[in-house]
Amino acid sequence: MALRSGSVRKAWLSTRCVLSSHRPWNKRDPSSLVEFMTPQRKLIPHGHGDGLRLSRGQHLRLIDPEGGQSGDLFAVSLDGRQRLSNGRTFDFGGTVYLSTGNQLWSDESEPLLTIVADDVGRHDFLYAPCNDDMYRKQYGLTDHRNCFSNLTEALRTLGVAPLPLPTAFNFFMNVDIDANGKLHIRAPKSRAGDSMVLRAELDLAIALSACPAATCNGGGATKPLAYEVF
Ligand SMILES: [Zn+2]
Repeated sequence: MALRSGSVRKAWLSTRCVLSSHRPWNKRDPSSLVEFMTPQRKLIPHGHGDGLRLSRGQHLRLIDPEGGQSGDLFAVSLDGRQRLSNGRTFDFGGTVYLSTGNQLWSDESEPLLTIVADDVGRHDFLYAPCNDDMYRKQYGLTDHRNCFSNLTEALRTLGVAPLPLPTAFNFFMNVDIDANGKLHIRAPKSRAGDSMVLRAELDLAIALSACPAATCNGGGATKPLAYEVF
């Protein structure tokens, strides 16, 4: 068997680093969780959120440790003047199915984040974050954990005004649009260990939520997510 040339080997390693430099988390094998949770990696417990700052040029990897779990991402420039906008993203990208090469734009028509790698290839940017009203009116549930509260709490901890909160980017959420325009929420396509990587185009405050809506996550118990910055 021919050996790879040095340059090819280097390129292969570089691509692998961006796409999947991690071993999947197998729930039946506790040692895999230890290996999965590298020092750079942070876990978002199921149904909860987290906030972080991302400097221009830094990368954020969003990871589905167990598979089949979606999350919400909201971004705002650190100066507070530019907030994530699905409408502007559709204006400039021309598609509702965003993946590698697409950018997430602000309400001031500047890119906030660029998707540079994506194992999953299906995300939603149409649905508003789940909130108290949704769980009460659609499911008769009260005091349910929700992405709206997770995101606004995370923004407050970062010193960013949380409201108004526009539509978040629902990474790994799988929504089909049929020929009549009807929306169909499917189970996420993400498998254990899948991830996507976004590059910051401005200094950003980022809020994340591991969505607690069973409907968006295959109908069963919801699961954690993880992320890392590099
Ligand atoms: Zn949610």
